[in-house]
Amino acid sequence: MLSTIDDATLMKVASSLGEEEAVKLIEYLKNLEEITDDEIANKTGIRLNSVRKILYKLYDHSLVSLRRTRDPKTGWFIFHWRLQPDQLEGFILSQKRRVLEKLNVRLEYESKHDFYYCNSPGCRRVTFEEAVEAVFHCSVCGRPLDHSENGIMIEKLAEKVEQLRKELGE
Ligand SMILES: [Zn+2]
Repeated sequence: MLSTIDDATLMKVASSLGEEEAVKLIEYLKNLEEITDDEIANKTGIRLNSVRKILYKLYDHSLVSLRRTRDPKTGWFIFHWRLQPDQLEGFILSQKRRVLEKLNVRLEYESKHDFYYCNSPGCRRVTFEEAVEAVFHCSVCGRPLDHSENGIMIEKLAEKVEQLRKELGE
């Protein structure tokens, strides 16, 4: 059923959801037509609460579909889930676009500012304007602020932006 989607793609999706158990759950779902959340919990050993949390997250991104039936005995709702492989590519593209947007903002910020740093771990760099205001001393640790070279960072950001643009066909 999911022959068009390779494992690497699936794993990218799962890890972008930020949960280790999402990987396990998607791995399991991809070999099935339709399954209830109870069954997933039983078969994978993932706690039912976690299973539902992950499924709703996937559902938010239209990566799974949901069908609801009623248990004739108990009258309770039963939720049947199904992976939507055709939505995965679109999801990955929109994730990449979001990353690209963030990288562009960062790249512009890095390019347009001169930075100063006290070289103390835990302190942050400040812009030239902030450094002037603090008379070139760190407002946290008090050490003098040195010019902080960000050319390499800009280069790396630009590379990543270029790579994502290519992947997105922009
Ligand atoms: Zn400092």
